[in-house]
Amino acid sequence: MTDNVRDTVIIGTGCSGLTAAIYAARANLKPLVIEGHEPGGQLSITTLVENFPGWPEGIQGPQLIENMKQQAARFGAEFRMGHVSAADLSKRPLEVKVGGETIQTRTLIIASGASARWLGLPSEQALIGHGVSSCATCDGFFFSGKEIAVVGGGDSAMEEALFLTRFATKVTLLHRREQFRASKIMLDRAMAHPQIAFRSNTVVEEVLGVEQKEVLGLRLRDTVTSEESILPISGLFLGIGHVPNAKMFEGQIDLDHDGYIKTRDYVFTRVPGVFACGDVQDRRYRQAITAAGTGCMAALEVEKFLEEHGR
Ligand code: NAP
Repeated sequence: MTDNVRDTVIIGTGCSGLTAAIYAARANLKPLVIEGHEPGGQLSITTLVENFPGWPEGIQGPQLIENMKQQAARFGAEFRMGHVSAADLSKRPLEVKVGGETIQTRTLIIASGASARWLGLPSEQALIGHGVSSCATCDGFFFSGKEIAVVGGGDSAMEEALFLTRFATKVTLLHRREQFRASKIMLDRAMAHPQIAFRSNTVVEEVLGVEQKEVLGLRLRDTVTSEESILPISGLFLGIGHVPNAKMFEGQIDLDHDGYIKTRDYVFTRVPGVFACGDVQDRRYRQAITAAGTGCMAALEVEKFLEEHGR
């Protein structure tokens, strides 16, 4: 092995990637951590995080990420900005292409996360973190006593709407068609809830309040009648699914039908020495703390793998 072969490369700087980086760095593996196009992952686009243990008053998402990054750097993790465009996991050492460069590594930790799906409206994008959110568990608390809307017709939207009734006085669920993708039990539960109002065949045309930097309402369009209306609300939650960032590994490791990496024993992929952690392989929990947990596991497995296979 040549000197420029890395012991481990970590793709992603969300909670899972950074936790893996802390553990790998403390094991003296000098991990190279690739930052990607959404550095910091989903925590970096949220505000106050109140459910991460150890912060009784809560901590701002970007600050939590920055703390983890500093912690990893202190033990020798090296960070590099760049987009992983391709990887060859059939070779030994493994190869990862970042920009124009090919990086060789004995092990790989994929912590590339899942990106929340957004509607893509300019007004929606402008108000992310100012009343527009894709995470009810993270931001629901800020809407105590207010009226809000949730977009989506799947289980996530039902779950978010139900969760948000703990805070909001009224939740309007907006779905673009008549049929729902959600499981019957979740749909029935949401429909039976007195604080949730359903509006199907409805799309969001614009989020109002961009100039004021706070959500003031929605301009809606009925897809059957084309009629437009204004819904005054203070918060908009997107529950329209997530897109795992694993496309570059298609054909080399197993992905499920929605593109999430399939793992066994928490973090093992089918390629020896390649581990996956965090939201890119977790469609169920998707919490900062669970992502951190699997990041830790991946780094410990990397250590074991290198012990067994030589560095
Ligand atoms: P999903 O089932 O794919 O549903 C996404 C919903 O968002 C669909 O209703 C879809 O509308 C709508 N949508 C997508 N893009 C849209 C757009 N651009 N504008 C407006 N609406 C849009 O995703 P999910 O709800 O996140 O669920 C993913 C998986 O996790 C599912 O297998 C689900 O069962 C599971 N899950 C389970 C639970 C639970 O059991 N507690 C909780 C959450 C998620 P269309 O229907 O028109 O396509």
